[in-house]
Amino acid sequence: MKPSDVVLRTENLKAHYVLDVPGGQKVVRAVDGVELQIRRNEIYGIAGESGCGKSTLMKTLYAWVNRPLRLVEGSVFYSKDGQEFDVYALNKQELRRLRWTFMAYVPQGAMSIFNPVIKIKETYRDFLSSHLRGKTVEEMFEMAKEHIEQLGLPVSILEAYPHQLSGGMRQRVAIALAALLRPSVIFADEPTTALDVVVQRGVVQLLKDIQERLHNTIILVTHDMGIHANVTDRLCIMYAGRIIEEAATVEIFKNPLHPYTQFLINSLPQFGDTGERVSAPGQPPSLANLPSGCAFHPRCPQAMPICRERRPEDTKLGEHRVACWLHAERGEAEYAANS
Ligand code: SF4
Repeated sequence: MKPSDVVLRTENLKAHYVLDVPGGQKVVRAVDGVELQIRRNEIYGIAGESGCGKSTLMKTLYAWVNRPLRLVEGSVFYSKDGQEFDVYALNKQELRRLRWTFMAYVPQGAMSIFNPVIKIKETYRDFLSSHLRGKTVEEMFEMAKEHIEQLGLPVSILEAYPHQLSGGMRQRVAIALAALLRPSVIFADEPTTALDVVVQRGVVQLLKDIQERLHNTIILVTHDMGIHANVTDRLCIMYAGRIIEEAATVEIFKNPLHPYTQFLINSLPQFGDTGERVSAPGQPPSLANLPSGCAFHPRCPQAMPICRERRPEDTKLGEHRVACWLHAERGEAEYAANS
């Protein structure tokens, strides 16, 4: 990957919740040493079980860090207009400007972004007036109408109050709003949660349409592997605050290397296959009390003695990377053969 292709990258990113508990403090390692390079013009997926740190990773990438979450270590770099910015080195005003001109965030549960007592068109007006200067109210309503039409949504929703829209339509309006100022990066955090399958499809299609129209980057967090299969270009799998595998989505589904990813994929229903679906045994570990070595070892049927003692680092196999001792030797051999 050429450096100019990268819109966002991290270096050893760690984000820990520090909680006060009786007798002291507890450290929850929600993001624990994440290395990422996300490209321009791609939909990048982040997958993993609930509680693996996906949403915290998104918020940390967006520099949306509230107490008791503390960024302990590492950096998040954005590339804009040929320059790189470390978001955690920006002051509040610079960060605000970067967000307004460059990124948008669609949080879980779209209702939270709407004011329940104003119509959707007024939400558009408020959004536009806080970002653009010199537009009349009529011009802003016209922009909202044009935008809604371009995205294939019914213009009538502009006259509705948020509670009058279905959950799926509210979610689509939230995504449409996020795309309004053509951000280079859109974060979509579980945008299809609590929606039925048919409605999910509309939401996913809207994300794809926006990405094709803007040629920007969408970072999509969902535990739903079916959605990743349909919409993302590249995919990473998170486990216990770390990325344990990353590759092109097609490659991950065709050739999953990490035993945890294999469980995630094998547990998906498939047409014509009536056999039993096997999911990963046991429960995800507590992020406040991670197992030694590979955090997956208590659940891994292929665990070896080294897995209990040493944490595997990333092994790179071309554009595919995996953190598992099963592949460490292979990666080293391929690297030696190719260098
Ligand atoms: Fe299993 Fe060991 Fe690989 Fe972890 S490193 S996934 S325990 S084989």
